[in-house]
Amino acid sequence: MRFFRHSTCFAGLLLLSGCASVVTELPEIDLPALDRERVSQETEAFAEIDRLHARLWDVAYPVLRENAALCPKTRADIGVVTFSLDSYPDDMKAAAKREFNAKDYPTVRRVIKGSPADKAGIKVGDTLVSPESKPMSAIGKDMRTLLKDGAQAEIRISRGKESFNVQIVPQNICDYAIKLSMRSTVNAYASGRSMTMTSGMMNFTKSDDELALIVAHELAHNTMAHVRKIVGNLILSGFATRYTRPFETEADYVGLYYLVRAGYDAEATSGLWARMALMGPRSVGRAKTHPTYPDRALRLAATRKEIAAKQLAGEPLVPNFKTPKP
Ligand SMILES: [Zn+2]
Repeated sequence: MRFFRHSTCFAGLLLLSGCASVVTELPEIDLPALDRERVSQETEAFAEIDRLHARLWDVAYPVLRENAALCPKTRADIGVVTFSLDSYPDDMKAAAKREFNAKDYPTVRRVIKGSPADKAGIKVGDTLVSPESKPMSAIGKDMRTLLKDGAQAEIRISRGKESFNVQIVPQNICDYAIKLSMRSTVNAYASGRSMTMTSGMMNFTKSDDELALIVAHELAHNTMAHVRKIVGNLILSGFATRYTRPFETEADYVGLYYLVRAGYDAEATSGLWARMALMGPRSVGRAKTHPTYPDRALRLAATRKEIAAKQLAGEPLVPNFKTPKP
């Protein structure tokens, strides 16, 4: 250990006369123990990724499924998530192999509860095999071709040494990818094609209803083509920010409909923005790109009222669109 510390110092400070270092006796550690500790911490870290990934998919899937009728882009889906070593950066591959049994080719990482795949008996670790005998990803071209018309499909499953066919009826879901980003900042974003939640956001949300609200908000950004519109505004005016505020309000408004349609409790999300405010009082009354928290809280409350009235009247739960002026 001492050698390395000194060599770093040499590399940087060779030309200087004195080489500053720590002045206390530091505890020594042995290398095998260091390795065991590394593996143990990696195991814990991967278990945490798995917990968040499972929660995100369990919460987000109903939002994608129950809003298929309102999404401009949908796909026939069986309710599995596949992954492979390619999904990980090089320095995480060894641990992904050890902890998640990730392979060089796509295998099933998650089966959504109650989904067509779940009903057909597909299990974590299975390989979905294409008609050309290649492992398929759940959202790849082979799978999309196989499930194209949404009718019953036959999928070959490889499980250990066994291999067999299952009959499966896919369901339509909104065709946007769900992504988890292991970052502690409380954030979520939409790209037009995907929705990403940070681990910070996931841990900030106290209930599945709250997490679903964030997913639904990001889904609304995608379905309402906000990213394209913001980029368009930016090109036209050079200022994107002053145009993003109405889009945020719209994503809140449309997203709340998505949330309720997916079976979540809108009332249970009412405290979310007030809790955001607890993170920094200065952000309460001013916001550059987003509406202020009080603004969002009040408009969401008004939207909850609007939705509740429609539910009471047995009206379809669809957002109100502006009627074109005559
Ligand atoms: Zn937003």
